[in-house]
Amino acid sequence: MKSTMMAFPLLAPSMLERAGKLFPRVEIMSSLPNGDRHRYTICDLLRRSRRLANALCDAGIRKGDRVGTLLWNGHEHLEAYFGIPAAGAVVHTLSVRQHPDELSYIMNQAEDRFLIVEDVLLDIWRQVNSRVKCERVFVVNRGSSLPEGTESYEEFLAQSVDNLVRSDIEEGDAAAICYTSGTTGRPKGVTYSHRALVLHSLASSMPDHFNISRHDVVLPVVPMYHVNAWGLPYSAILNGCKQVLPGRNLQPHNLLDLMQEERVTLVAGVPTIWIGILNALEKQPGRWNLSNKLRILIGGAAAPESMFRRFDKLGIHAIQAWGMTETSPVATVCSTKPGMETWPEEELYKLRARQGLPLPFVDLRAVGDEGSEVPWDGQTSGELQVRGPWISGSYFGNEQPDKWTEEGWFRTGDVVTIDSEGYVKITDRLKDLIKSGGEWISSVDLENALVGHAAVREAAVIAVPHPKWQERPLALVVLKENMTVEPGEVRSFLERTVAPWQVPDAFVFVPELPHTSTGKLLKGKLRQDYSQWKWDTEPSPVVS
Ligand code: AMP
Repeated sequence: MKSTMMAFPLLAPSMLERAGKLFPRVEIMSSLPNGDRHRYTICDLLRRSRRLANALCDAGIRKGDRVGTLLWNGHEHLEAYFGIPAAGAVVHTLSVRQHPDELSYIMNQAEDRFLIVEDVLLDIWRQVNSRVKCERVFVVNRGSSLPEGTESYEEFLAQSVDNLVRSDIEEGDAAAICYTSGTTGRPKGVTYSHRALVLHSLASSMPDHFNISRHDVVLPVVPMYHVNAWGLPYSAILNGCKQVLPGRNLQPHNLLDLMQEERVTLVAGVPTIWIGILNALEKQPGRWNLSNKLRILIGGAAAPESMFRRFDKLGIHAIQAWGMTETSPVATVCSTKPGMETWPEEELYKLRARQGLPLPFVDLRAVGDEGSEVPWDGQTSGELQVRGPWISGSYFGNEQPDKWTEEGWFRTGDVVTIDSEGYVKITDRLKDLIKSGGEWISSVDLENALVGHAAVREAAVIAVPHPKWQERPLALVVLKENMTVEPGEVRSFLERTVAPWQVPDAFVFVPELPHTSTGKLLKGKLRQDYSQWKWDTEPSPVVS
């Protein structure tokens, strides 16, 4: 028997339409590049997102077309999050950290027709402009003059109207796309359907997950160009929360001032952000008067036990979540089950440092070397595989289909154990990548670039623990016979093709590198050999 329920589509812009009716006066605050705080309401956001959608439709954007954004976390980005999908198009969030070669590849592969760029990021745009085929470029400019060939975002909106937009969008249509760095090869696009974004917003808001309510004030430090800022801009609108968007100044003092003055209750970021915040709070006890409802979401890289202990001492509750670009991203969140509160302190901290339990509808399993699922015993490890309504089923353009099993499980590349209660713990990584301050660096790309140098015979790049950035790349280089080269020269050579923050912080010249019997680099052994490496210079990578 068929149900008589309506086939009512789950659409991302519907979340804002509702919030605009029910919570019109709730504030959206954005930090501007000059330090000023811009304020408007959810009602303004709705009107301007509709204007953007109508303007895009009038400009000839068709269903499914991609519109790029090169923006920090701010209200214009939020307008793009809702306005572009309301036009039936796909918001393509572009990372401000990418090397121009990679950025132009991504924009061309996604076939971005239009771009919205912020004036303080125009230098990035200038470096890719001649290599991409954007038909129109709209600049969020705050007083500066517009570069030739670009148009004003504000004027684009002003020509338009704020009535309701198109009604032919289906929940399976793509609303957003974000690229993820691959272990090998080029970045790959992950498309998010309207349905996935809505379900992800609902599930991640639940009390045992991010526990979001309309009484919250949400600050996504995690960038809106990286996997939808963990979906927070959407889930905050779904719930009708005030949002505090930090712009480009992510220094601990600035973030703490925002948290204090805007009465933030939920803030999300990668461990590198929290290391800076903890240091500042511990150095100046009592300087910031934070909300007693404040919760901290940690993800993107492993949060050590010590981080939970330090936050607890300050009376701040920290929660770990795990996810990937391919999982929208939130797939597991770590919170206790009833009865666990009475566990010995040591056990409880061990639990909280795990990646947690899967959200409803997220299926997961760990698969061992022989290809079968390993037991949930907290001991046996295997590759984490996931599937569910907000887990990607393929990459845009069907790149790398082998990332999915025949039964449709996504191979995450993370090695985990799962305990008898279902808590996932990441123990290792199969993917040959380095995660520095929340952003990926491909060791394979660096190795390929290094062997392009005339003096280099072979190279291995490994992730080495770093006190501030969690991991930084270390290059082990074997030179050709009778060749010499200075580290500074290798560095400059790499800087020609690699973003400066991705260049290894140290180059160690070694006579040879260890290999497996089939000739593959023994990366595990190298990681172990150099695990105690002492960084003597302060690198300048990226914080997301
Ligand atoms: P991305 O697609 O850039 O968001 O990166 C996803 C990857 O980041 C995962 O596959 C993990 O390797 C890592 N990651 C994310 N969250 C965590 C976490 N809580 N603990 C450990 N690693 C994490």
